[in-house]
Amino acid sequence: MPYNQQSITSIRRWSPKTFSFKATRPEGFRFKNGQFVTLGLRCGGKLVPRAYSIVSDPDEPDLEFLSIHVPDGSLTSELAQASVGDTIWINSKVTGSLTLEHVQAGRNLYLLATGTGIAPFISLIRGEEIFERFETVILVHSVRTAPELSYREELEARAGGRLRYVPTVTREPHDITGRGADLFRSGELSRMLELPDPDPELDRVMLCGNPQMNKEMTTHLKEQGWTMTNYKGVGNFTVEQAFVTTQCED
Ligand SMILES: Cc1cc2nc3c(=O)[nH]c(=O)nc-3n(C[C@H](O)[C@H](O)[C@H](O)COP(=O)(O)OP(=O)(O)OC[C@H]3O[C@@H](n4cnc5c(N)ncnc54)[C@H](O)[C@@H]3O)c2cc1C
Repeated sequence: MPYNQQSITSIRRWSPKTFSFKATRPEGFRFKNGQFVTLGLRCGGKLVPRAYSIVSDPDEPDLEFLSIHVPDGSLTSELAQASVGDTIWINSKVTGSLTLEHVQAGRNLYLLATGTGIAPFISLIRGEEIFERFETVILVHSVRTAPELSYREELEARAGGRLRYVPTVTREPHDITGRGADLFRSGELSRMLELPDPDPELDRVMLCGNPQMNKEMTTHLKEQGWTMTNYKGVGNFTVEQAFVTTQCED
């Protein structure tokens, strides 16, 4: 059976809609920064599995995840009530199209996330390789309300040098209230960061968020001459394709 019985080791609530948790790591469980795994709880004796991006770096002992709480969601209505020590089932198989192998090396790497779509990007920036492959990494996180800016303290503490962190809040007053995709497309993002305009020859983009953002950005980038990574080869932008059907933040 591919599911391994593990335990929840810590929980952190960010907002009424979002929380993080850590779980013990199955023996021999290997993954790359940015990948996702399927995990679940047994509800009424039946396993309810869902895909989750791994937040942690492979060097960390536990596995960390960031979750939405969908009040009537089959899994998250139960997961949001879980306590430290509770059992969680984690699949052995990892996959995903948001690893560093999914974009060519380049100058600046733009990571555009909405809501819980920031999860794989936290993993990426906790690793060292991303800063070996890119001069500057720009992480834009768009949420509706400020408490949903999960990992904000960690990101603010690390930002400033090679990592630029741009938190945006769309439904309450905040320093930046524009959607990440709009800031990117209008050129405002590069102006505010005093960076050159994104150039498909030199720069790279990774997208993880709600279907609208993924779709708008994919259309925009393709129109501007960017090439999406797919089975034909590695391009200069990539999107977690599977994410698009389930994310509806922002
Ligand atoms: C590749 C992949 C990676 C994923 N990684 C994560 C992750 O790291 N964290 C995470 O919370 N979810 C992630 N998801 C979504 C996750 O698999 C579940 O959909 C989510 O946990 C809700 O499950 P549920 O059974 O409670 O609700 P479901 O019954 O599955 O979903 C109910 C509805 O909730 C909405 N919804 C589902 N997920 C989200 C979300 N993340 N944000 C906003 N609205 C949502 C959708 O409209 C969905 O139709 C990922 C999905 C995919 C395909």
